Amino acid sequence: MAKYSIAIIGAGPSGYFAAQALQNLETEELNFSIDLIERLPTPWGLVRSGVAPDHPKIKSVSKVFEKVATAGNVSLFGNVEVGRDISLEALKTKYDAVILATGTSEGKQLGIPGEDLPNSLSAADFVPWYNGHPDYAKLTPDLSSDTAVVIGAGNVAMDVARLLALDPSELDPTDTAGHAIESFKKSKIRKVYICARRGPEFASFTSPELRELPDLEHTNVLINKEVIEAAIKRVGPEPEKHLKSNLDAMLKIASNELHPHERTMEFLFQHVPSSIDGQNKVESVTFSTPEGQKTINCGIVISAIGYQPKEQNGLKVESNKLTNTDGHIEDNIYVVGWAKRGPSGVIGTNKSDAADVAKLLVSKLSKEPKAKFDLGSALDAKIVTQPIWEKINSAEVAAGEALGKPRLKAISREDLLGLGEG
Ligand SMILES: Cc1cc2nc3c(=O)[nH]c(=O)nc-3n(C[C@H](O)[C@H](O)[C@H](O)COP(=O)(O)OP(=O)(O)OC[C@H]3O[C@@H](n4cnc5c(N)ncnc54)[C@H](O)[C@@H]3O)c2cc1C
Repeated sequence: MAKYSIAIIGAGPSGYFAAQALQNLETEELNFSIDLIERLPTPWGLVRSGVAPDHPKIKSVSKVFEKVATAGNVSLFGNVEVGRDISLEALKTKYDAVILATGTSEGKQLGIPGEDLPNSLSAADFVPWYNGHPDYAKLTPDLSSDTAVVIGAGNVAMDVARLLALDPSELDPTDTAGHAIESFKKSKIRKVYICARRGPEFASFTSPELRELPDLEHTNVLINKEVIEAAIKRVGPEPEKHLKSNLDAMLKIASNELHPHERTMEFLFQHVPSSIDGQNKVESVTFSTPEGQKTINCGIVISAIGYQPKEQNGLKVESNKLTNTDGHIEDNIYVVGWAKRGPSGVIGTNKSDAADVAKLLVSKLSKEPKAKFDLGSALDAKIVTQPIWEKINSAEVAAGEALGKPRLKAISREDLLGLGEG
């Protein structure tokens, strides 16, 4: 029986799905020993630090991850960063194959004047801040103005706008980071604009997320009905199914009865941002619109226009992903998930994709497996193994239970590692 050692870098959805795909390819002759390496003391990637805290059901996919992790042939090496604690080059020589599942953590830039003003933020920083990612805890978004502008036309923009527009008491029963709940409770923002460059027919919001917006208990959601009707005319009588359900969902929002809420979230289409202005911080955003130039006064701007991989480990980034051919980078190095395809698709998309890459990897394995490498002995970092992670997880869940939350997240690396020692 041949037992191959595989290193997977990144314990987000695509890392777990890659491990699962390898498990599914095991036979009596072919076995894998998988080391899953994660830079944070906590696994699950964007399921912990991206997915909106008011969407807890989505996070139940973590049960699948834990099943994969405890199936017997996976070892977690949390709190270990490839490129800092060990090099990709070292892994490449010690393992039969290395799979990068490192995601796309950098926000894309608007490239307009004023983007660097204080309180002009990227969703790539703001989202992990409210989700308690240790690297973003020190962000101090100023929520003291009455108006926020979110730029983007996808679900991340919608998550950000919704989090800013809802009544923060709606976050009490969620796992939103404590520091963020505190800030949202002090927030003076009552009007949130979500601004898309093109018309509604080009937006990449998805309909389930749109359909739930009218359920917000304390916020009016506004869309101009004529704008949606014009888009429906433009797309003709037989639009693609997902486009039709998107436009239907938007039309429903546009037809909604308004309530006397003080909070509003308003969609604006065909608003192309041309500058962000202000003396010492954001004071307004100017857009080109079909009706001419328009300036919206606001105290904070958050752009959510896409992500790209961080440049690390000497790998090339091209068109929002690591340069690869069907998941193969070079030699015995592979890539899956958002690092492979760029930031698109839902969590499940990473599963079929990882299965294809795992098949390709197996087809290219050499006949003789390498001797098993003892990764732990090559590291100085305080390793978060699966049992330690389980302690951290249980401690967070227990602390949350008392407060009616799914978990109370520990934020700093020290606090997380401390829970693992408890
Ligand atoms: C704000 C937001 C909300 C979303 N909401 C939803 C939703 O509601 N429903 C849905 O289906 N999908 C949602 N998605 C999409 C979903 O999160 C992605 O499809 C999925 O997370 C991509 O998985 P990944 O493993 O490729 O990347 P990630 O989840 O980003 O995981 C990458 C992992 O690699 C680790 N890593 C990076 N570099 C290193 C290194 N050098 N060494 C070790 N580890 C490293 C990171 O710490 C991270 O844990 C959302 C995405 C975002 C950004």
